[in-house]
Amino acid sequence: MRRLTILGVSGSIGRQTIEVIQQFPHLFELKAISVHHQIDYALALLEQFPTITHIALGTASDGAKIKTRFPHVKVVSGPFGLIEIATLKEVDMVVNALVGFAGFVPTYRAIEASKDIALANKETLVAGGEIIMTAVAQHNISLRPIDSEHSAIFQCLMGESRQSIQKLWLTASGGPFRLKSRQDLKNVTKADALKHPNWVMGSKITIDSATMVNKGLEVIEAHWLFNMPYERIGVVMHPESIVHSMVEFIDGSIKSQLGMPSMKTPIQIALGYPDRLPYVDQRLSFNQLNLHFSLPSFERFPALRLAYSAGQQGGSLPTVLNAANEIAVQAFLTDQLPFDKIETIIEETMNAHTIHPHPTIDDILKINDWARNKAQTLITKEAS
Ligand code: MG
Repeated sequence: MRRLTILGVSGSIGRQTIEVIQQFPHLFELKAISVHHQIDYALALLEQFPTITHIALGTASDGAKIKTRFPHVKVVSGPFGLIEIATLKEVDMVVNALVGFAGFVPTYRAIEASKDIALANKETLVAGGEIIMTAVAQHNISLRPIDSEHSAIFQCLMGESRQSIQKLWLTASGGPFRLKSRQDLKNVTKADALKHPNWVMGSKITIDSATMVNKGLEVIEAHWLFNMPYERIGVVMHPESIVHSMVEFIDGSIKSQLGMPSMKTPIQIALGYPDRLPYVDQRLSFNQLNLHFSLPSFERFPALRLAYSAGQQGGSLPTVLNAANEIAVQAFLTDQLPFDKIETIIEETMNAHTIHPHPTIDDILKINDWARNKAQTLITKEAS
């Protein structure tokens, strides 16, 4: 029985994790959850899972409703609330399904408390990969990705030795604008950008997929998870999202993992490893399977170039890339920035930064704040 905390339970990954737990009640026990403001969903979960002892909320004032109906449940709030439920002594594993940089400190503190991590919050590794992976090794915990590409690579590497790896290949659908030119991108709307062809996801990651910043973040995530230099991580366009990623070996063999575009498989792998759990939703059919692959252009997708550049220069630069992207995406979603300027804001913020080669936690927090402010200033300038 694995005892779990889920951070960000009301988002897309959080809700699918709940479905997995409901399906395998003999394997998982839910001890703590966090929601930002979705109190009705939290109340429903407290009803369904009497095992929950702690809940973290975005703001303390939302706690009254919970306390009257579930007086035995401890209600905490804010960033410290997330840390409290991520470090509970009665919990074995923390599922981090938070969105953005907010996930970084709770992941770090959970590792320090020797919790295993199922990580959907890739921003944790982009912003602080070195610190996180050092802590993973120090505390001898296991950190498994809830990201379809990294889960695929994790599966392809089972039973393989490190010396046999030639290259990791991340597949990318290219998102809703794959066939549009840079010129076409000037006129795309929020509604267009939020329509991903294959995956139903939260708004931040859907915009990241449309810019391919998401793939860039995933390149950096792969670098840290699999300890692989950037020149041995490639990206392949694969619009059908059936091959979730691949590993090329020194003998020229390539292993891939295929499946339906569903996050249930990566969630089940991350939570259930080393066991495979039965998958009950729609299964892949080979009938009418028609797969396409091509290499992406850095001119068309500058976000990829920026991510490789941030990763290769390293230090605090990926923290800056991530922070500027979060602010630019927010600005796009609130109609303050055109879609095709998201990469411009990221690049200009990166250019304004002096890299710290080995940032501490405090450095990362400060650099994240600095980069957010810088990006906001650039966005305001862009609009005037
Ligand atoms: Mg992914």
